[in-house]
Amino acid sequence: MLIINARRLTGPPVAVRTAGDRIAETGADLVAKPGETVIDARGGTLIPGLWDHHIHLRATVAAAASIRVGPPQVRTPEEFRAVLAAATPQPDGWIRAVGYHNSVTGDLDRHTLDAVVPHVPLRIQHRSGAMWFVNSVGLAALGQADHPTGQLFRQDTQVAAATAGSATAFGPLSARLSAHGVIGVTEATPNLTAADLDSLDDAVGEGQIRQRVMVMSVDSGREHPNLGFGPVKRILDDDTLDLDGLSEWVAAVHHRGSAVAMHCVTVAQLVVATTALRTVGVHAGDRIEHAAVVPETMIGDLVELGVTVVTQPNFVAERGDEYLRDVPASEHEELWRLRTLQSAGVPVAGSTDAPFGDLDPWAAMRAARDRRTVSGSEISISEQISGAAAVNLFLGEPGDPGTPRELTAGSAADLCLLSASPEVVLRELDGELVSATVIGGELMKR
Ligand SMILES: [Zn+2]
Repeated sequence: MLIINARRLTGPPVAVRTAGDRIAETGADLVAKPGETVIDARGGTLIPGLWDHHIHLRATVAAAASIRVGPPQVRTPEEFRAVLAAATPQPDGWIRAVGYHNSVTGDLDRHTLDAVVPHVPLRIQHRSGAMWFVNSVGLAALGQADHPTGQLFRQDTQVAAATAGSATAFGPLSARLSAHGVIGVTEATPNLTAADLDSLDDAVGEGQIRQRVMVMSVDSGREHPNLGFGPVKRILDDDTLDLDGLSEWVAAVHHRGSAVAMHCVTVAQLVVATTALRTVGVHAGDRIEHAAVVPETMIGDLVELGVTVVTQPNFVAERGDEYLRDVPASEHEELWRLRTLQSAGVPVAGSTDAPFGDLDPWAAMRAARDRRTVSGSEISISEQISGAAAVNLFLGEPGDPGTPRELTAGSAADLCLLSASPEVVLRELDGELVSATVIGGELMKR
């Protein structure tokens, strides 16, 4: 395949020839060989395909079949009751809802849910992803009829097991990713079981998932030729922080030759994670997921450790109006930092955390550049980065997400072609401009 008349994001003209799954040749002006497929970019922009460095594939498919019961779609108790009363159960018999936030109608428990949906199993996921709220019929179906509150904290496996059966259909999600120019994803769900890994591996092998997939679970030892194995993910919770236990875990993962990825959304979690790394030592590829709050005094620690931060700028837009209301103004600059981390020398990569964030990486790029909430308010504007830097957040290698890939001969033929000039692409940062996505030398259908 030959792509001609394109421009690099930095401006210069470029043509790219692929052979098999690699870029064979790049130049300002390449001439087609007989029989070669030629794509005329007509002055459009060619970049390496995007990599979403933190996403949850299965949950994103499930969320597409769930109703949203949180902001911005649902904001009041009346709206909450109305959407649930109108909901139809999925084929497994459950009503599934996601995106709940306490600002809608306060704390939920089995009794408040029974008052809205008494006869059909109902489960509602808090938007943090950590908590499920289940009504009484649902608790009985889960074998937890005696549960006092119906508030199930980090029980994804138990909740999923009760409603398993039908295989996850990844195809539509993969097509949406391709439409956004995404050629690879890092599946950030921790502790995937051997069966989970088998099904993901099959989905890639059978072509349901066209993207490259790197997982953050321990290799089960079974054959998974279609998956990459990256850093091993661990979620930290404030209530159970344990420096010694975490240090031992980090040392054990490093000893097996893998890096770690620690989920840190509070200052306490970041302190314990960085202290553990300082105690045990850092392995190439170690990462901090989210780094939602970074006090200025801790930026130096991140620089010294040399860990990569994998952030989600989209939350600045999606949740910013609540931050402006709920977080003291003096702490706004600590939220979802970008520019101060990058200029201090911390490698930073971008991701969407779908389904907890919107799946569109271009929306995340706009949020990184504009630092504006859904309602249009500015938030921690000093953390703005340029449009080009925002694109680069999604161009990293999976194993080295803070370092952008380049269009060079010999690298993977993973490409994203946009229908507009670099100037327009950088101004709009809009996924609608993606005109073709190439993965491993193969052109994806739009
Ligand atoms: Zn996540």
